Amino acid sequence: MDAYTEGIVLRQTKILNGRCMITLFSKEYGKLGAGTGLTGRGKGKSSLALRPFTYGNYGLRKSRGAWHINSAEALSGFYRIAEAPERFANCAYALEFTEKLLPEESPAPALFALVLEYFEMMERRRKKFDTLTVAFLFKAIHLWGAAPELEKCARCGKVPQGGGAFGVRDGGLVCDACITAENIPDRGKDRLLYPLDFDILNVMRYFPGRPLRDFERLALDGPVLLALKRILREHAAWHLGVSDLKSEEFFSGGLLTRKELRTDGYRNYP
Ligand SMILES: [Zn+2]
Repeated sequence: MDAYTEGIVLRQTKILNGRCMITLFSKEYGKLGAGTGLTGRGKGKSSLALRPFTYGNYGLRKSRGAWHINSAEALSGFYRIAEAPERFANCAYALEFTEKLLPEESPAPALFALVLEYFEMMERRRKKFDTLTVAFLFKAIHLWGAAPELEKCARCGKVPQGGGAFGVRDGGLVCDACITAENIPDRGKDRLLYPLDFDILNVMRYFPGRPLRDFERLALDGPVLLALKRILREHAAWHLGVSDLKSEEFFSGGLLTRKELRTDGYRNYP
């Protein structure tokens, strides 16, 4: 079968004799692995269209269960992503997150559009790249139906009066009463409870309903940003199985200053 589709290149793996394996997020068929001989040695048009981050048109053939890329034409290479190390680190993380999130050969057009919009905005953005990445992750998690509960306590269902915590295993807000209650099995040892204050909670509530373009001018600062990164990473690992990303320096502190790391108030409870 021959097929044509728009796609975003997630990964390129060199194999023998100038051949490559491409992991493509295709608009029509979702994520798929495809062999190709197009990369060769040159810097021809089709070779450029097979680089990671590229958005393009791809001609595919599927025979005996294996995909093959016969033609490739870049629509945008997003070359500016690589111009700033922080921007690149953020985009690499978002790309790897997307790859891990996607199942094989299951179309995800809304996520496809979100990734494109994120890359376009990243190319224009000059600083505070990780704020946009956090927004992207929130929206991706929402699209996948794993939105955290942020209005009422995920354990008892009451609307909390105080700050409470984010319970990763609970999938959202946990009130102070539940945290101190005796009926929490591993109370005090639950390594997946993160203290919340209203700043963090309000930012989390602000994200989901808005389009990504609303975050064009938003810039979060150290502690709130750090808390959101931690919570999102753990939430995605626990509820979506997205973990152990190679590009994880973005989350583990590579882009944080030493001062931010020292003053990190988001130790585990209690
Ligand atoms: Zn509760």
